Amino acid sequence: MGGMAIVFIALSFGIPTGLIGRAKGGSFLLWLVIGTCLPGFGLLAVILSRNEINEPERQCPNCNKIVKLYVQVCPRCGMDLYLPDPSETRMPPQ
Ligand SMILES: [Zn+2]
Repeated sequence: MGGMAIVFIALSFGIPTGLIGRAKGGSFLLWLVIGTCLPGFGLLAVILSRNEINEPERQCPNCNKIVKLYVQVCPRCGMDLYLPDPSETRMPPQ
């Protein structure tokens, strides 16, 4: 049963690592593998990792191109994009 104990301990690190990774916009499965293969280290890595949740987006009112909220000039049509109307912003699909 020693092997089972090791698997259990590894998963007890891997599962929270995966959950944190997913909460930060990453892949649950990827972080599950990292956290399981590198117990402790993987958990630390995901806690320290950059939050990868996407920036909010909006639509250019002139050419309808989807651009990030921080973009001030539309890269397609060159239109100045000022503070957006809240109805024009949306979060990208996760
Ligand atoms: Zn545009």
